[in-house]
Amino acid sequence: MDFQFTEEQKRLRDEVRSFLKKEVTPGVVKETESRLGLGPHSWEFMRKAGARGWLCPTWPKQYGGLEASNIDRLIIWDEMAYCEAMEVWAGVRMAGPTILLFGTEEQKSEYLSPIARGEVDYAAGFTEPDAGSDVAAIRLRAVEDGDDYVLNGQKLFNTGCHFAQYHWLGARTDPDAPRHRGLSLFIVDMKSPGITLRPVWTFGGWRTNEVFYDNVRVPKKNMVGEKNRGFYYIAISLDFDRAATTGRMQRNFEQLVEYARERQQDGRTPGKDPLVRSRLTELAIEVEILRCLIYRHAWLRDRGVVPNYEASMIKVFSSELGQRLSRCGTEMLGLYGQLQEGSKWAPLNGRIEHECRSSTHVSIFGGTSEVMRNVIATRGLGLPAAG
Ligand SMILES: Cc1cc2nc3c(=O)[nH]c(=O)nc-3n(C[C@H](O)[C@H](O)[C@H](O)COP(=O)(O)OP(=O)(O)OC[C@H]3O[C@@H](n4cnc5c(N)ncnc54)[C@H](O)[C@@H]3O)c2cc1C
Repeated sequence: MDFQFTEEQKRLRDEVRSFLKKEVTPGVVKETESRLGLGPHSWEFMRKAGARGWLCPTWPKQYGGLEASNIDRLIIWDEMAYCEAMEVWAGVRMAGPTILLFGTEEQKSEYLSPIARGEVDYAAGFTEPDAGSDVAAIRLRAVEDGDDYVLNGQKLFNTGCHFAQYHWLGARTDPDAPRHRGLSLFIVDMKSPGITLRPVWTFGGWRTNEVFYDNVRVPKKNMVGEKNRGFYYIAISLDFDRAATTGRMQRNFEQLVEYARERQQDGRTPGKDPLVRSRLTELAIEVEILRCLIYRHAWLRDRGVVPNYEASMIKVFSSELGQRLSRCGTEMLGLYGQLQEGSKWAPLNGRIEHECRSSTHVSIFGGTSEVMRNVIATRGLGLPAAG
């Protein structure tokens, strides 16, 4: 593994930076920060980035990509995350790569280019009231009827459904098969009659959703991959999704360091406090470790591997690092650190306070830390199942 960017990659990074300087408007940042999903500014930004092939740079050119490497992809995505232009893109990160692997030619032609052009997004549709970590427990039922499947049931915490055009949906197609052999994966148009949403608000201020399917007809051609193999496609989708970026973490960290260095708090510069210095240096090391994990993941993908336990390592380390970082920030900022965005007394405009609340979500969605540790233990270390 080469730890240096090539001259070409440095040029790409500079090109992306100057694009972002112009295109990441305060409106884009506000929408990303709000965690309410893609709004008009974000859609506009996505289309502009998509027009350059920067949303899905590794994809074939015929589907809107650049046939670039995963390291190049990471350079682009990391710069976007650093500028707060990128958060929830299940189409780009999860559905698209899975369609590329398992979709029919017709599905690839119909669904990939709009994702790469930044025209549509997908919402992950796995969790139900009784199926979270245990994806094989999905109950939402899909029954064949002519050229369609008819879907009935309920999903929970399906975050992108209020702004995405498609639901990336796991449903039960064979109730008599062993649990993980009776699921299939569907692309569902969110405008299909019979779908209703009810918002669920998290204490981090995010909107996620309950989604109800009442006799929703989905064409058979919208099934991705083989019938009843959905469990495996969902697992691969999640592996794709778990590979994070470092940009946002890096930015939060830099803001804390700058605060510790430049500001005065209760008549003192926080950066002179031995405890603050020690915590920040630990975080500096951890941010660097995260970067190495993420670039190794991209490097593996360039060698044709779909990383599995490596993706879980990133998920668990990155989500828990976010929590350590925001906890360190809140302690460093003292009582002021509890003030929310909008208060004139809130340091860093309440950013760390917000991170403190919302970072708790990150170790839950996309696979909890406990489940990630199970994956690392069994698939990475070869340990027997817990018992
Ligand atoms: C903000 C937010 C956004 C989300 N967005 C989406 C989305 O867009 N799409 C979607 O499909 N889902 C989404 N989810 C759901 C998320 O993926 C699930 O909440 C998560 O998988 C955990 O499932 P659960 O809530 O049912 O908890 P459970 O699976 O019931 O787990 C409860 C506890 O038991 C632990 N546990 C469970 N199984 C094991 C095990 N085998 N070994 C050790 N410990 C275990 C868990 O770690 C957890 O601490 C979101 C969740 C949140 C909070």
